[in-house]
Amino acid sequence: MTTNVLVVEDEMEIANLIEVYLTNEGLNVHRYSNGKEALKSIQTTAFDLALLDIMLPEIDGFTLCQRIRENYHYPVIMLTAKIEDIDKITGLTLGADDYMTKPFNPLELTARVKAQLRRYKRYNHTEENENIESTNPEFYDFAGLYINKDNHKCFLYGKELSLTPLEFSILWYLCENKGKVVSSEELFEAVWGENYLDNNNTVMAHIGRLREKMNEKARNPKFIKTVWGVGYTIE
Ligand code: CA
Repeated sequence: MTTNVLVVEDEMEIANLIEVYLTNEGLNVHRYSNGKEALKSIQTTAFDLALLDIMLPEIDGFTLCQRIRENYHYPVIMLTAKIEDIDKITGLTLGADDYMTKPFNPLELTARVKAQLRRYKRYNHTEENENIESTNPEFYDFAGLYINKDNHKCFLYGKELSLTPLEFSILWYLCENKGKVVSSEELFEAVWGENYLDNNNTVMAHIGRLREKMNEKARNPKFIKTVWGVGYTIE
């Protein structure tokens, strides 16, 4: 099966480098150096992942990311040269899954692309796991929280939450394991599909953002509870 990756980058050298590395991984790279042309392709091509530079001619990477999120939930990785942009990228509204600051190591970029693709495919291309899927529910609905894997929507007390695909995957995994305590390590390996390293704050940071979106009280969260020294649980 072809994996289509959208690469929007107007610096030729960087775009060439990305293309070489990703093509080497067997990915089908669709390159654009102009935001407007990239936007057209978003509407016509079924991408599995997008890599977006921020400063682009005509339409910038922020806008592209938002336009992708209006209709799709494939992973988006932003490329930025400016530290100031990171707040916006990791903010609540944009919906990017990861970012790389320039200059970056192409091997690290490749690793992140592969990790996002693994996660995305695990949660979305369910035909590979039909036996498992048929016995697993497509949605959970409890205590005011409704989460649906079919359409990737999540509602809290009837109000839709705008979750990034990563946040969705975390919440889904916790719901699947409702009543059990899930360690940071297990969560990381399940959602990111990578080995967990010690002192990894990634899980904590994402849980924090998820709780923020759910309007959870830091001291007494209603849904995602912290079990100190062990992990997280939804009761
Ligand atoms: Ca640029």
